[in-house]
Amino acid sequence: MNIRTRNDRALEVPPYTVEPRVQVRPGTTALIIVDMQNDFVDPQGRLSVPSARETVPAIRRLRDLARAHGIPVVYTQDWHRPDDPEFALWGVHAVEGTWGAEISPDLAPGPGDVVIRKPRYDAFYGTALEHELRQRQIDTLIVTGTVSNICVLHTAGSAALRWFRIVVPVDAVSALEEFDQQAAFRQIAFLYRGTLTRSEGIAVPAGDPPRPG
Ligand code: ZN
Repeated sequence: MNIRTRNDRALEVPPYTVEPRVQVRPGTTALIIVDMQNDFVDPQGRLSVPSARETVPAIRRLRDLARAHGIPVVYTQDWHRPDDPEFALWGVHAVEGTWGAEISPDLAPGPGDVVIRKPRYDAFYGTALEHELRQRQIDTLIVTGTVSNICVLHTAGSAALRWFRIVVPVDAVSALEEFDQQAAFRQIAFLYRGTLTRSEGIAVPAGDPPRPG
């Protein structure tokens, strides 16, 4: 028997800080773009997140900044077999080799970008992500993409547990509900001690050399 209850009590979101300016070093930082795939970003996608499209300009701005300074750009791609057990939870989405699993053409990866195909929310789980980052001496991750409280939060949290410093621009991540968005920010700031900022607040210190290509 299913019992559904509704909690009508309004809850205040505990305060968290959104830093106006965050400096990152090109030699030790990577930009992570989580699951900006057709199934999540496109209106015709199977699990469309309407606000994901609004984050494309902010993610592009960060990608341009990264490319200008030689900062590695790492895309994650939700990638499921046609009989994946996750479909019992979410319905069919991001099936390997389909249009829905492709990264949105608005943010298509370029040559030299890293693409990590992942079977679950956490982009470190069952993938070579940590290997790719450690090989490049990365200690700081700028985490963007969708969905804030699912794959973004699990990836950011998993990174924090591995002692990466995490920076999450609040205008570059998206969720289905404002509650979910706020819950993710609270966890990132409070639990994982990440830094929240806005995409335009992220800068490279003047005079810092670009990462050697
Ligand atoms: Zn999935």
